[in-house]
Amino acid sequence: MQKILNYINGKLVEPLSGKYLDNYDPSRGIVYSHIADSEKEDVEAAAEAAIRAFPSWSQMATEDRMKILLRLADLIDHDLDKLALAESIDNGKPVKLARSLDIPRASANIRFYATAAMHFATDAHVNDGDSVNYTTRMPVGVAGCISPWNLPLYLFTWKIAPALAAGCTVVAKPSELTPMTAFLFSQLCIEAGLPAGVLNIVHGLGNKVGQAIVEHPQITAISFTGGTVTGRKIAATAAPMFKKLSLELGGKNPNIIFDDCDFELAMKTSIRSSFANQGEICLCGSRILVERSLYKKFVEEFVKLTGELRVGDPAAEGTDLGALVSEAHLQKVLSYAALAKEEGGQILTGGNRIVLNGEFSAGYYMEPTVIVGLDEKCRTNQEEIFGPVVTIMPFDTEEEALRLANSTGYGLSATIWTENLKRAHRVAHQVKSGIIWVNCWLHRDLRTPFGGMKQSGVGREGGWEALRFFTEAKNVCVKL
Ligand code: NDP
Repeated sequence: MQKILNYINGKLVEPLSGKYLDNYDPSRGIVYSHIADSEKEDVEAAAEAAIRAFPSWSQMATEDRMKILLRLADLIDHDLDKLALAESIDNGKPVKLARSLDIPRASANIRFYATAAMHFATDAHVNDGDSVNYTTRMPVGVAGCISPWNLPLYLFTWKIAPALAAGCTVVAKPSELTPMTAFLFSQLCIEAGLPAGVLNIVHGLGNKVGQAIVEHPQITAISFTGGTVTGRKIAATAAPMFKKLSLELGGKNPNIIFDDCDFELAMKTSIRSSFANQGEICLCGSRILVERSLYKKFVEEFVKLTGELRVGDPAAEGTDLGALVSEAHLQKVLSYAALAKEEGGQILTGGNRIVLNGEFSAGYYMEPTVIVGLDEKCRTNQEEIFGPVVTIMPFDTEEEALRLANSTGYGLSATIWTENLKRAHRVAHQVKSGIIWVNCWLHRDLRTPFGGMKQSGVGREGGWEALRFFTEAKNVCVKL
């Protein structure tokens, strides 16, 4: 069975303990590879390699760093089909989604930051002819990048690309549930000629490997994407050490539908924003708020289209939803369907596990689920479910829509559907979320700041924000 090895100091190496964990194919519910069960000592070896590589990588001409990173992006494009299949087997998502979204966006991340670093500039100020201030920015040193399982290679590259482009060296940990594409990526790093120690990938459990990265005194910046509970723990460890921290956390995003929307587009996109990637996207609109005059029509059509979604073999072209990432996660999501009933909600469609035939009979499949009849304060409407489950709530006025939209502790993203331009801007300004889409969803321009308000995160990634995060400003004041 294939072994997923660590990538340390330019080489693929066994974990020092020699121990491995099982890696599951969620679509079949079977173990299909083994993943390095690394310890603190592996992180120490990775950090040492990163510290050694830092002087030459950080002083290398930005253009030379760019050339290496662009080779890496080209290699991802070259291996698109292989990587998409690997990501689908590791995560359970449809191959066609990995091929059209995850993997192309992974190479786009690298290409964007490799070239953005070439245009990254600092300021100079003349102070009334008395002095000149100029600012320089230096890479922070060794960065720790920790990524989740839902968009494995996409979010992994989202973290490491700006770090490497800025001149940092990196110790990274992909989720233990979906390590395969990061492993294949480490092989591409070797092929692209990335110097030894510049990127180190340590596989294993969050509470051992992730924790050791966060605790390591010479890893000076932590960029983390994952759940809010883990984010809180990371912040508690890193803050007393005064590390730079970027936390991209969970969401419970409102999808606000006014009755003057383009109904067909809002409907089609809402199906996607509810159930794409089995609802396992932090930006999914899991709370749909619909103006009462449109509510009945919207709910009927939405339930009908949800019932038509095809759940099944992730490799089949016709599949809309694949398997959830693990048995434990499936049980968690199913428990929310049960909770919704206890809280007085009505499940209009879905709510159950699906058992498929043949080789997929042990896979972790679930019916896409639509719930109505709950108020905004119940747990189903407050907690992140992170699966194919949405609630729909009616509202009467714009004020009520805003109150419902802002009624959770999260503030990652929101979507607004209206043809009224003034209202679109007015509502966008008052929803407390870091990312607002008007009449669209998941449109990304990598130059824009990305991140959440409230419990959805600290700091912003994307564009210059990420390059600023991985560099430190120094101001020099020269008396004239
Ligand atoms: P987790 O928080 O469980 O894990 C994220 C990563 O952190 C994994 O690599 C995990 O390792 C690791 N980890 C776990 N414990 C620790 C620790 N004590 N110290 C350091 N690292 C640790 O999140 P999930 O993987 O379950 O991902 C889903 C979550 O991610 C959802 O809440 C989702 O909203 C959020 N997310 C946020 C995004 C955003 O941009 N805001 C984007 C995508 C997802 P291991 O897997 O081994 O436990």
